Amino acid sequence: MGVIKTKGLVIKEVSYNDSDKMLTLITEDYGKITVLARNAKKNGSRTSYGTQVLTYGEYVLFKGRTSFIMNSCDVLMNFYNLATDLTCFTHAAHMLDMAGDAAQDNMVSAQILNILLYGLQALKKGRTPLLVSASFALKLMQITGYPPHVCSCASCNTCDIEQIFFSFKYNGFICENCSKQDSEAVFVDIGVAKGIMYVLCAQKGGVFNFELSSELLNVFSNIAFRYISQHLDKNYKKLDILNEF
Ligand SMILES: [Zn+2]
Repeated sequence: MGVIKTKGLVIKEVSYNDSDKMLTLITEDYGKITVLARNAKKNGSRTSYGTQVLTYGEYVLFKGRTSFIMNSCDVLMNFYNLATDLTCFTHAAHMLDMAGDAAQDNMVSAQILNILLYGLQALKKGRTPLLVSASFALKLMQITGYPPHVCSCASCNTCDIEQIFFSFKYNGFICENCSKQDSEAVFVDIGVAKGIMYVLCAQKGGVFNFELSSELLNVFSNIAFRYISQHLDKNYKKLDILNEF
């Protein structure tokens, strides 16, 4: 077994037996990994340090052929206080979920980790939770290689679009004409279209640094969550509950 060091965020913790925990981390260098944390359930013990969900730290791990065992952790940042607000925490949990599902590929996990940290920071700063989690969903799709097509009609390719629609069939904006052939296309107000394009262009913390009226935010978030559900092939049932907040 070799010893490795990597930065990562705990996205899940599961009780493994009476004293141990199994953690899921999104890491900078090793993608999404599961790590056995021995004696982590003993309160106040050195080994419980850094094993909580929403901990971001530098982890020292023993790397076996198929598994990782935690040795120690240097906590760099934590987002535990998000748990004090139910709405915030629900959106944070949803973001961890989406990130975990999208982080299958080691190549992009560092980028996912990075944008996830910026998203959690935005929640911590008090940005609108629905705007943060929906923007995160969209940015996540771009990072993993599935950005929606926004520079012309995704169906006929015309740039001459007066009324914009979002198509889940063509994965992006389509024109009014093409929308007649796509019964599930959603009319997109110019403010929503700008929001989508803004998120795709923005970097780092800037991704979460814009405003939408609650009416536009509803359309924006419905599109973002439906888009990611379709691509990750997972029905995010919690979304219905989330939209009520
Ligand atoms: Zn068209």
